[in-house]
Amino acid sequence: MEYNQDTLRDSFGRLITYLRLSITDRCNLRCFYCMPQADFNWMPPRKILRFEEIVQLTRVLAKLGVKKVRFTGGEPLVRKDVVKLVADVNGLDGIKETCLTTNGVLLRSLASELFNAGLRHLNISLDTLRAKRFEQITGRDFFHQVWEGIEKSLELGFSPVKINFVMMRGKNDDEVVDFARLAQRFDLEVRFIEFMPIGKHSKWGKQHFLSSDEAKSLIEQELGRLVPVRREDDAGPADMYSLHGSAGKVGFISPLSHRFCSSCNRLRVTADGRVRLCLFSDLEFELRDLLRKGISDSHLSHFFSEIILRKPARYLTAKKKDVPSCDRQMSSIGG
Ligand code: SAM
Ligand code: SF4
Ligand code: SF4
Repeated sequence: MEYNQDTLRDSFGRLITYLRLSITDRCNLRCFYCMPQADFNWMPPRKILRFEEIVQLTRVLAKLGVKKVRFTGGEPLVRKDVVKLVADVNGLDGIKETCLTTNGVLLRSLASELFNAGLRHLNISLDTLRAKRFEQITGRDFFHQVWEGIEKSLELGFSPVKINFVMMRGKNDDEVVDFARLAQRFDLEVRFIEFMPIGKHSKWGKQHFLSSDEAKSLIEQELGRLVPVRREDDAGPADMYSLHGSAGKVGFISPLSHRFCSSCNRLRVTADGRVRLCLFSDLEFELRDLLRKGISDSHLSHFFSEIILRKPARYLTAKKKDVPSCDRQMSSIGG
């Protein structure tokens, strides 16, 4: 198969420049929509990619044109020495941007070290501003800790700080407007994410689904017109808007009601070292064994260039009629 050694391009012409790395499946929260509440077995530590393996795969991908890396999980901040990993990946030639998606529970204590390690882009997941409801959604009473983590991140100068809010009818749809107000008050990007059916034991149901369009109209009724913000070339999947007089912005991520697959630039590596070419496709490629057997950088480069040709054009809809879904749990894919 012919391929250009400096770029990773799939068979639909899409350039792959963004790597999402799940660095652990463990988590200090139990969000009901993400993890099973009981009978959950963490992956044994020997199955989780080691730091040197993560660095090798990222180095090779950076040579193939990957510029942006996101650390996710599970909860990435529960991984021991995560700050060192962030610093090591940040130091790789070709990596221009490192980002981290976190539930924010450990941010208050780790934010300064992460900033010093070169991290600037933070996504913090928060589905409610009400402490009691936080406990109902996440199974833990950590709302105030997370809020302090958000304040600390803004103080330190992380930019952008994005808040991920998963919209769930009957659970937190009455807070959509309050979250939009947050973006008026603070220099935050509040991103409203459509609830997705991920994982074999997903709690997803059509009755809990709230579309981006519905959320937009709830916000406009209360706070006035949402003004579209011009998209940067490497903009993510969110459609961004500003509100009159707002310090921050709001964004809408609509995997179920809109399609952004035609510009998909991403590749995922799970905590146990399997490459996923599409969030919704359970087709995975074993990478950990190759790394443990000492694969050379040039063979690894060849491996990525070959498998990328199997990236689907868009999510596959065969399983549940019109709704995309997948079997692997969100906590080991990382979003
Ligand atoms: N623990 C970290 C966190 O919560 O930010 C990182 C991993 S978490 C799996 C990544 C993101 O996926 C979070 O923003 C979470 O809210 C989102 N998420 C998890 N399950 C989801 C689902 N079924 N639909 C939409 N978003 C989901
Ligand atoms: Fe943990 Fe994030 Fe999943 Fe919540 S969404 S259980 S914080 S991995
Ligand atoms: Fe990319 Fe798959 Fe998400 Fe579409 S559904 S944007 S192809 S990861």
